[in-house]
Parts: sequence; structure tokens; C-alpha cells
Amino acid sequence: MNGKAATGGEARTRLERGRTALGPALELVHTGRAPTRAVLTAELGVTRATAGAVAAELEALGLISVDAKPSAAAGSQGRPSHRLSVAGTGPVALAAQVHADGFRAALVGLGGEIVATAPGCETIDADPAQVLGAVVDEGARLLRETGRRCVGAGLAVPSAVAEPEGTALNPLHLAWPAGAPVREIFADRVRAAGVTGPAFTGNDVNLAALAEHRHGAGRGARDLLCVATGHRGVGGALVLDGRLHTGSSGLALEVGHLTVHPEGRPCHCGSRGCLDVETDPLAFLTEVGVRPGPEGLLNQARTLLAERYADPAVRVAAEVLIDRLGLGLAGLVNILNPDRIILGGLHRALLDADPERLRAVVADRSLWGRSGGVPILACTLDHNSLVGAAELAWQPVLDDPLGALG
Ligand SMILES: [Zn+2]
Repeated sequence: MNGKAATGGEARTRLERGRTALGPALELVHTGRAPTRAVLTAELGVTRATAGAVAAELEALGLISVDAKPSAAAGSQGRPSHRLSVAGTGPVALAAQVHADGFRAALVGLGGEIVATAPGCETIDADPAQVLGAVVDEGARLLRETGRRCVGAGLAVPSAVAEPEGTALNPLHLAWPAGAPVREIFADRVRAAGVTGPAFTGNDVNLAALAEHRHGAGRGARDLLCVATGHRGVGGALVLDGRLHTGSSGLALEVGHLTVHPEGRPCHCGSRGCLDVETDPLAFLTEVGVRPGPEGLLNQARTLLAERYADPAVRVAAEVLIDRLGLGLAGLVNILNPDRIILGGLHRALLDADPERLRAVVADRSLWGRSGGVPILACTLDHNSLVGAAELAWQPVLDDPLGALG
């Protein structure tokens, strides 16, 4: 083989290696795991030249910024390196969330950064097309105002989303018809509003878990279990090796219907005493003995816990819910063996109110006392379902930045 051919082959190999490294490199910057080019080089397992070419390509695509001059990281002993960050004026995803108390639109950049939000709306029409049209219009308005390029749109709904149809199977607290084709409606509205890129739809707790795994309390977990109660009902999600476990038809982790109080409240599923109706904000307010106010169930319940925990009625109600939540979590731990549990919505507030009690209940009910060792943490992101909805729209770019944007 002559020298010239070898050089051509090397260049081609470097180009191919660089191309296939673009997605993994972007994901490392996106999730905060590659703050510098030196770390990127080490994480990708490539040469410094390849990592430099990859970072330059992502910068040329408008996705990341590479500091021109190398600098030492604060408090680090390592040699100075070029700092990497997501581009401040780069593309965004349109994210939308619908919940029992309203809807919200936002633009979310790489790194899970919420760039702009529209004020949340407080009422939900019984016609999904009306609601999704309104939330998409809000998002389209934000895109016009900011002038940012859009990579696509993602929607979070408080219902299991059946695959592959993309229908909302049980939008129980929305007065939407069961089986509403939400993915199709959302995609139609996105196209009609002139928003570029593909459109995606997922369950709100699944998306919250995905966002927390990439940017929040779930970072670094291998078998991450997320349990959350937003406005009504309880949802669960499992992220395995960085991917959502959604089951064969999108319906895995319907944790809301675990029985935690056999003589308890009747549940809309036909059973009784389910986690769904025993540990959500309405259950808490009922247990305290207060009527739902105008501020929304979750806000009202959180405010009671934060400001009136000394009131025996509030504390006793919190303990009742913590014990039932603990029972449900222990069952899930025994089945799923997660290495971390994160709690969102009111469950996060209950954990904050009395972390020792919740951990003790889980440990008491565990197999061989092992489940007590599973860390139980609070979700840390504001609007994690919105950020997760944006993750769906970002995924094609993370998989192949050049193919999606080049
Ligand atoms: Zn039930």
C-alpha cells in the first residue's frame, strides 16, 4: 500500500469516526457530562484531534459553543481545556403540557434549559383539538417572538399513551374521550401552526423521569424509578440504562392502581384504595378536611405542607399519605429493584416533610431489609414534564445531529 492511499484511508476513518461520534458528543454536552473538550475526548475514547473536529462540527451546526481559549476549570487540578457549553442562541424544541388544571407551552433548548414560557392556562376544554390547538398557538407565538430555530415539538399528557397508535387511553381527569388520538391531533396542530420539525407525544410522568435522568435528580442512575402525583392521580416511570421502559404497547408502570389501603376510597379503575386515589393532592386535602380552593389542587396541598405542618390535622394527614406511599414504593422496589427512586409533585413535598418516616416505611416492607438502602430523592427540575416533552423532540438531533440539522 502506498503512502497516499493510507493517508486517504486515515482521513476517511477519522471522518466516519467523527460523524458517528457527533450524537454521543452532543448528548454528553447536553447532559452536562462533558464540560470541557478534554473530558469529551476521554468520554468518547477518541483522539484529541477527533474530539476537536467533532466539537467544531457541533459548533458549526449552531448547537454548542467552544471557548476559543483553554481555561482551567474552577477548583480543578487538571490542565486547562476548552470549555464546552450549549449555544446560547441555538435551536429550541417546542414543549407543551396538558394537565388537570390547565396547560402550558415553552421553548426548551439543549441542556434542558427553558428559554421561554407562556403563562399557564387554567381551564381545559373537553375537546382535545381545542386544547392542543391553543397550546400549540402559544408555543408558535413564543417561536416568533424569540426568532429561534425549532427542531420539533413534544407534548406531555396525563394519560397512558398507547403505542403505536398514540392514543390517550385514560385521560381520566381531563374530560377528554378515552382513546383520543392525541399524537395525531398534536402533529396536525403543529403543522397547521407552521412549526417545523416532527411532533411527539408521551405520558407526563414518563417524560418527567426522562428529563430528571438527563438533567436532574436521576443523573447517573442505572435503574431509575420515578413516582409522582401532579394535579390528579399517580404515575410511575422506569428509566433503564438511559431509556424509558414503556412496555410492549406503551403501558408499563401504571403504578397508580397498586392497592395501598384495601378498605379505602373507590377508584375509577373499579378497585378500591389504589395509590392513585389515596396519595394524590385531592386525597391529601380530603384527609386534612379542607375544601379544594381556586389555586389548584397541587398548589393548595403543597402550601398546606409547607406553611401549616405544625397544625396536627396537616401533620396527621401527611403521615397517613406517607405511610400509603411508602407501602406502594416498597412493592415497586421488591418488583423492580431500582438503584434510585425519585419523587415528584406532592410526593416530593411529602418526602421533604418527613424523609425519615417515608424511608422507614419502605425499609420495613422490603425484602430482606434491602429496599431500605435504595436512595429516595426529590425531583429537582421545575416543569420536568415540559423538559421531558422537549427531550422527545430533541432525540432525532441527539441521534444524528448532521442528519437532523445539516
Ligand atoms: Zn385504581
